[in-house]
Amino acid sequence: MKAALPLACILALFSCAEGEAPRTRTEFLLGTVCSLTLYDKAPAETASRVFDRIRQIEERMSVTIPTSDIARVNAAAGTEAVVVARETFEVVEAGLEFSRSSGGAFNIAVGPLVTLWGIGTERAAVPPQEAIDAALGCIDFTKVQTDSSRGTLFLREKDMALDLGAIAKGYAADQAAETLAAAGIGRAIIDLGGNILVMGTRPGGEPWRIGVQNPLATRGHFLGIITASDTSVVSSGAYERFFTALDGQRYHHILDTVTGRPVRNGLCQVTVMAKCSRDADALSTALFALGVPAGLDLSEKTPGAEALFVTEDKLLYATSGMRESFRLTDTTYRFGPP
Ligand code: ADP
Ligand code: MG
Repeated sequence: MKAALPLACILALFSCAEGEAPRTRTEFLLGTVCSLTLYDKAPAETASRVFDRIRQIEERMSVTIPTSDIARVNAAAGTEAVVVARETFEVVEAGLEFSRSSGGAFNIAVGPLVTLWGIGTERAAVPPQEAIDAALGCIDFTKVQTDSSRGTLFLREKDMALDLGAIAKGYAADQAAETLAAAGIGRAIIDLGGNILVMGTRPGGEPWRIGVQNPLATRGHFLGIITASDTSVVSSGAYERFFTALDGQRYHHILDTVTGRPVRNGLCQVTVMAKCSRDADALSTALFALGVPAGLDLSEKTPGAEALFVTEDKLLYATSGMRESFRLTDTTYRFGPP
């Protein structure tokens, strides 16, 4: 989980005549800027409790923290099964489910490819083809063995590695919301590096307005606005984390599990709206990797999830529920033919 720029953002953090003035706290966790805005009265330690919980998730699911569950499972690849926290087990199982439903476009065992490209790190470079081929030989997610009664994860081959970079932030957002709900908080905005979850409604009872970043403009320029309450909005984009190689070409961080290279399918962004932020996070990556026809198909088939696809030539495709919640504000974009 490396640094990421926010993709969606909350509009109009207005002052509220009714109720408490909102209070925002920010911390750097999960490799990104995490912020929490509370609209209800809450004891001072509430925000700290939420950040402690996010930190606990990071300590369990990060690939780079050597003592994390995921790092220990990766280190024991091909050797032995490792007991992990129940929640790590469950997030990996959910990741396996998305790996299956997306036909491997989303792949929870993509670790060797992610490490090879190093996108988002200082050593990012285009790897030689032989190295890509070798990594592609180590990403078979059907070789991830889960044992529910023992609570263990086992990678059946040496050199395999799990990577929760496309799902853990969403899970952390859900857990942040649970922590707040348990403390009696009903209205809040949780923003984990653009992975947004809004709890309840705005203080006046109106739904929240969530700006969707214009993927072809600088940060803070919106493509449009999603109006919704009690939901999560997550975007995956080609513009978010990338490096420019010596040949001038840009390489971004969502990897095609067939070619072993950054996905190139004409999409520049996918935004998913769902109650469960874990699912929205995984789906946004899965749909981005699948591309328009297959991605639209999967999103229509996924209950409770709505999706918006943006192509490099400024065409939009959306599920029916997304079309109801999304208002296009940048008129240089238009909806593509059905
Ligand atoms: P971000 O985490 O920056 O918000 P995503 O949710 O789209 O963006 O996740 C991208 C991250 O997921 C990558 O940095 C990498 O760790 C991992 N990843 C890359 N390609 C895939 C893939 N095909 N399937 C699953 N995870 C992937
Ligand atoms: Mg994701």
